[in-house]
Amino acid sequence: MMIGIDLGTSNSLACCFKDGKCVLIPNRFHEYLTPSAISIMDDGTVEVGKIAKQRKISHPDVSATNFKRDMGSDKIYKLGDKSFTPIELSSLVIKSLVEDARIFLNEDIEEAIISVPAYFDDTKRNATKLAGELAGIKVERIINEPSAAALYEHMMDTIEKTYMVFDFGGGTLDISIVDAFDNIIEIIAVSGDNHLGGNDFDEALLEYFLMEHNLLGKLDIHTHSVARKQAELCKIALSTQKEAQFQLHVEDQLYTSIITREKLIAICAKLFKRISIPMKRALSDSHYAISDIDEIIMVGGSSKMCIVQDFVKQLMHKQPVVSMDCDTYIAMGCGIAAGIKMRKDDIKDVILTDICPFSLGIDVINHDLNDHRMLFSTIIARNTTLPASRTQTYYTAHDRQKTIECNIYQGESMYCDENLFLGSLDIDIPPRPKGEIIIQVTFRYDINGILDIEVYVPATNETISKVIINEKCQLSEVEKAKRLEALKQFTLHQTNDMQLAELISKGESLFYQCSNETRSQVMAAVNYLKKIKNSNHISQQKKGMEDIQNFFQQVESSLYQDPFQNDIDDFLSGEVKQRNWMN
Ligand code: ADP
Ligand code: MG
Repeated sequence: MMIGIDLGTSNSLACCFKDGKCVLIPNRFHEYLTPSAISIMDDGTVEVGKIAKQRKISHPDVSATNFKRDMGSDKIYKLGDKSFTPIELSSLVIKSLVEDARIFLNEDIEEAIISVPAYFDDTKRNATKLAGELAGIKVERIINEPSAAALYEHMMDTIEKTYMVFDFGGGTLDISIVDAFDNIIEIIAVSGDNHLGGNDFDEALLEYFLMEHNLLGKLDIHTHSVARKQAELCKIALSTQKEAQFQLHVEDQLYTSIITREKLIAICAKLFKRISIPMKRALSDSHYAISDIDEIIMVGGSSKMCIVQDFVKQLMHKQPVVSMDCDTYIAMGCGIAAGIKMRKDDIKDVILTDICPFSLGIDVINHDLNDHRMLFSTIIARNTTLPASRTQTYYTAHDRQKTIECNIYQGESMYCDENLFLGSLDIDIPPRPKGEIIIQVTFRYDINGILDIEVYVPATNETISKVIINEKCQLSEVEKAKRLEALKQFTLHQTNDMQLAELISKGESLFYQCSNETRSQVMAAVNYLKKIKNSNHISQQKKGMEDIQNFFQQVESSLYQDPFQNDIDDFLSGEVKQRNWMN
């Protein structure tokens, strides 16, 4: 039997496809939501779920929550005298869900489809897969959470439409733009923030409360856990009430604050700005205007916050739909995905096309400068429909070069050391003058996020290929040291010419945002700026800067305009525009 698993930061759920419909799997408390929490009991056994979440307050030093945030990192969670990686903690959650399913269905569970935020990179995806394997099941597929949501949405409503899925959980925000028609669901663009969720509202509220009562830094770990819980309760109360009390006992003294919705907006102002960023990016990548979006579907626990709903409405000029089952939406989609995979006859025939959330490419030498930083040459651009295959041609950089080392990266920075390293490939070539040997690099990226690379050398008629699965789910020590080193240089960077430095950094950030067609021009411009930085020709410098400034301005204005800025300001200042919401 195969089940679908929504492995969330706060809550995890399991679902299967049975007798023609999605069936959510209850846990031993007869509840569908199992908190993603682990606690070690006095006898050394592991508790998963509700009890563990409570023990996070009573026994904080042997309990863990929110570890999905660190998936794929080498952070170690110390629970008493035991140590766990985020992968191991997640595997315990999966194990518990699988056990619940086995009891509920009275069947062995061998396989699962697990959902991940679309914005999870390769390392985090592989870490999730590994967590499933450590739990003793085969992970048949990793599915993007928004794609799972779209599958469920399509099952309930087959009308042709373009919609935005706004999935706001405890620790992550995922935005996707979906086109649905007939039996085809097309994911057009995804964007997100892996470090933004309901928990951040709790933290902001907590910090405000502690500041107000001059308690900052004065709570012991125990009271701090209680305080965080109180903050969450206060936030949740504000989803149904206009104001709520935040109360905390500290050493026999009771501290109280009254929090209104307006106050919560003010306290969390920064978070709203961050919510708008992936919304903007997904819209811009989709090339749709706000008015092209027929519907906004809000899912995830944090979508229940009224102030978040109001904010989305303000930006999208439309009343969003907050589903009744916004907590179980993704899990239901995973159940459908499992049904499709098991080829259940009673499931409607659907074709789901997904996209690649990050750009993929290789490192190239910075020709113009003797710069040690390798540049990122994009081969498959982000939001390309999967499966995808793209080929690019490269030339040798040195005379009598005997090998070419292709290092493969994922990310949006023009510098490789700021992107995620995925693997490398060495290609032997006949020694010739530089530029004479060409290689053709083909990237194939499949729906599971597996990258297949093929390099063809016409001079030798040889083809070298490699599948990059990125088995290591953690950065190696060497790699980490390298990245830290790179970061250090970044902050130490000082310059006399601020204007030029600013222009360079502007170009670098434009590279992130602009379309793939413009990227090489932007990269060339940045390189040119760096070159003239070292020249003594003041007039040449000035002319070059002017030209490039104009060019950057052009690129910037060709980018999608920020459609949200006025609305964000209005929302935060409490001046919600009177619009005709009749659509
Ligand atoms: P995840 O997908 O990250 O596991 P969920 O979708 O289960 O997360 O959402 C969990 C988040 O939703 C938590 O931050 C929780 O505080 C918040 N939440 C749950 N119910 C409500 C509510 N009624 N009002 C506001 N926030 C809520
Ligand atoms: Mg979720």
